Amino acid sequence: MSEQPIDTSPEELTHNPQILEDLGGLAVLEGSPQQEALGAEDDFSWLDVSADPASAGPMNPKKINWGSEQHTGLNNTDEAKLYLGAGVKVAGESLLTYIDQLRENSYVDDTQERVSKELAKEREFLLDALEEESCVNGVACEDNAAIILGDAELARLDLPEGEDDVERAKQLVTSLSESEIERFVRSHVPAETARIQQQEQALEGWKGIFLELTQQAIDKGALPPSIDTKAIEARLKALKVRVVDGLSARSAAAYNDRTHVLILASTQNPEQAYLLESPEGQTSRVSLFHAFGHEASHAVGAKVVVHKEGRDEGEHVVRSGLGFMSHTPGQDGESTMRFLALEEAVTELATMRIQNLETSDGRVAERKFLELLRTKGRQEISEDLFLEAKFEEYDASRPASERGAAWRQLRRSINEAYDPKFLVELDDMMEAYAAYDYGDSVQRAIDYLESDEKMPLGAMRLQRAAQSGLEFSPSWKNIVRKEKADEALRISGGMI
Ligand SMILES: [Zn+2]
Repeated sequence: MSEQPIDTSPEELTHNPQILEDLGGLAVLEGSPQQEALGAEDDFSWLDVSADPASAGPMNPKKINWGSEQHTGLNNTDEAKLYLGAGVKVAGESLLTYIDQLRENSYVDDTQERVSKELAKEREFLLDALEEESCVNGVACEDNAAIILGDAELARLDLPEGEDDVERAKQLVTSLSESEIERFVRSHVPAETARIQQQEQALEGWKGIFLELTQQAIDKGALPPSIDTKAIEARLKALKVRVVDGLSARSAAAYNDRTHVLILASTQNPEQAYLLESPEGQTSRVSLFHAFGHEASHAVGAKVVVHKEGRDEGEHVVRSGLGFMSHTPGQDGESTMRFLALEEAVTELATMRIQNLETSDGRVAERKFLELLRTKGRQEISEDLFLEAKFEEYDASRPASERGAAWRQLRRSINEAYDPKFLVELDDMMEAYAAYDYGDSVQRAIDYLESDEKMPLGAMRLQRAAQSGLEFSPSWKNIVRKEKADEALRISGGMI
């Protein structure tokens, strides 16, 4: 089905149930005479349709095996690009290279001016690392202050007195002369390089521990026995682990599905490495091992890759664990992940099972959402089903009916517990909220599942769009959504 070119004219798009299905209905046809045929295909074939007519070209997406020779071309990513959005490996390193070069090239007569400009930028950078807006996603300003104060001490700079380290670090950076900033950077770069190397080495060893603990969790029944540790081992082996300077990191821990890189900010305190904030605003600390385990659990999830011809020719990861990506970039150039909250919830659940943790401050709201999704339908859905789908092996060379079997089983259970359109409509609603506030989107889903009087999901989504004054753009996806929204309006009796 998905490997045939599809007529995507607007008329066809809004009237052909097959395309509605492909674009997001996901299970419109379930329970219909076509169900049999659909069941033989992958349930996420809808991802193979370009969402934007302007970027459409010959597509013919073809599934290929993750980790195969064809796919690994994708991983030959420029080392520098691996850090995209995660910060630089060592803050100040390129500055030193640049000013050393400037000084060596004596024919440049404004050397001092240029050096001064670079050092001024460095001061701004250091001050920025202490500002609350930069200390997000688990990065703590106190930790950045500790790095700055510690490395300033190494550089034998005089430290200001005071109780509050962030304030002390700000004072210090502001008062440093130009040459002292350079002295700080010359001491920070080797110190940070050594810390990063040490941490990367430790993390490399933790891959083996992760695998061992996963096996133990399976043996004692904390994880379903069907989980294939061979697949997990291969995904771990291919995983690149990189540590970036805490001063430049804008996220403490991340996994990039496209490059299969796990990125962590360097930390001097592995037991209390990163900051977690609850939806109620309470903060706690998570250990490096826990954060590593969470990101590694993302990394070892089921992987589906397609090769696409035409405009976006190349290999695209379209599924990672329970997250499904559109392989045409969205408006901001990034592809969006469907079922993101579900993937986060099951990832943290798996981490807890693997690390034998009874409680966790990680992904609390998402796990509540998962628990409600599991139990609020007409019948309960087992945790194992979610875990099996998350980690399943996906072999593109096997017949379609045998690919992604655990995901299809999970979908079937959700369809039975709710209705065939439910999961996608719920996610559509969440996506509309997540565009502005991801946390809010999870809370809306929790509220929805907990409430007895439910507004139709499509109506909730449209309400969000109306509140933000968003126009529906004439993309194919939205034409379909508009139709669904009109339907929602009709059902809700014009409640919006
Ligand atoms: Zn996560």
